[in-house]
Amino acid sequence: MGDPRTASGEVQVGKKRKSGGRSKGSSGKTGNVQCSKCGRIVPADKAKRYTKRVSAVDPQLARELRQQGSFIQTKRVTQTYCVSCAVHAGKVQIRQASKRRDVRKRR
Ligand SMILES: [Zn+2]
Repeated sequence: MGDPRTASGEVQVGKKRKSGGRSKGSSGKTGNVQCSKCGRIVPADKAKRYTKRVSAVDPQLARELRQQGSFIQTKRVTQTYCVSCAVHAGKVQIRQASKRRDVRKRR
């Protein structure tokens, strides 16, 4: 019990993800960004970025205006989340070890 050896005898090195959850590859340091939810300082390549379109007009009013054929401008708001906030907000899911390797395409 408690032996970190596999059946074949080699010791397993505890590494959950090959990338360490980051996307910097072999480049050295990346800058830091602040999580827009909790304010934590996260490496820029580790943070999850989400862009959403925000309208200044109330959605119900916007729908009516659109039906009348007017164009309503929207603003693009990019938010950066730390990993724990992204998990909490349901932006990323905790995956099985076997499914962790395949990367879903992000916009
Ligand atoms: Zn956060």
